[in-house]
Amino acid sequence: MILGATTSVILSLLNLYVMNKRMRIRGQMNLKLGKVVKWPSYWTTFEGGYESDQRDSDNEDPFSSGEDFDSGIRTQKRRKKLVYHIFNEKTDMIKVELVVGLRFTSRDVFKEAVLAYSIQQHKDLVHMKNDKRFISIGCANCRWELTSGPDLEDPTGWQIKSMQPVHEWCTRTFENRLITENWLVKEYLDRILRNSLIKEIEIKADMRARYDIVVGIRQCQRAKLKALNAVQNLMKKQYGILKPYLKDLVKSNPGTTCVLKTFEGEANQPKQFLRFYVCFAALKKSFIENCRPIIGLDGCFLKHACGGQLLSAVGRDANNHMFPIGWAVVERETTSSWDWFLKFISEDLKMEDGEGWTVVSAQQKGLVNSIESI
Ligand SMILES: [Zn+2]
Repeated sequence: MILGATTSVILSLLNLYVMNKRMRIRGQMNLKLGKVVKWPSYWTTFEGGYESDQRDSDNEDPFSSGEDFDSGIRTQKRRKKLVYHIFNEKTDMIKVELVVGLRFTSRDVFKEAVLAYSIQQHKDLVHMKNDKRFISIGCANCRWELTSGPDLEDPTGWQIKSMQPVHEWCTRTFENRLITENWLVKEYLDRILRNSLIKEIEIKADMRARYDIVVGIRQCQRAKLKALNAVQNLMKKQYGILKPYLKDLVKSNPGTTCVLKTFEGEANQPKQFLRFYVCFAALKKSFIENCRPIIGLDGCFLKHACGGQLLSAVGRDANNHMFPIGWAVVERETTSSWDWFLKFISEDLKMEDGEGWTVVSAQQKGLVNSIESI
């Protein structure tokens, strides 16, 4: 009996101890959860970020320029705004230097600058991602990488967001995958405009000589074809505005002789340009009133995609200098074209039967016959 009573007393004492222990632990938990005790204010602000005055006091802001005290009142600091360089496509394109934060006026200018960088540094770069909101470019021969996106301050601009600063681990290469057919068209359009018979191998050799870059012969062929189409479209556009140009020329210079001759081709086909003659009223009047009746006639080739020849009539002024009278663009230098040109010149200069006039020429083709006929 005594043993049983003692055991029950010990057990009840143990229960009391365990309950007391549990209560203590629960209290500590409540303390930790902030239910019992109110925590200091700086802990609550820490979760949402530093308060500005607290950061100033700790001097943890790398952009703050120090502390200002004005009559004991602490002023709030602002972040110092970083100013990034804006890429000037006219001057900076000569030697492109890419840095993080560099701003471009447009996405196209950025792409042009990266291409110029790859050509100048002889790095073979590739587009890893290329869309309207993000462009990532990497090197084909090393781990160099660049990311870019829209400029947040300029809605039309573009900016380098991240980049590995050093790009010296890979060697110089002759390949460049950023060079496209469109780039070749842009580069060689003027040359093809002047000489449409240029060969693909010449473009390839020129790329090697000028940029030290090897481009495929197929790529050159496709680029040449595109350029020839572009030249043809350009010519069509320019010949299309010839008639309004003629009207404006006569309207702005009353008395000017301006004649456009076209070739009537097949039915339902557009007219083709054949000849164009111009003699300005001021030149005509000045020559008749002040110059001696001597004219020089000559013709030369037009070095252009469309070819043709330029016929011109010049006189001599009081100082024995050249005085332009009139000129014409014709298909070829023939008796027919000289006839056509001299008919307008003789009418404009009122040469009538030609008595008292001197014509100087270098025995042009068909010219002697034309003068005799006039
Ligand atoms: Zn590289």
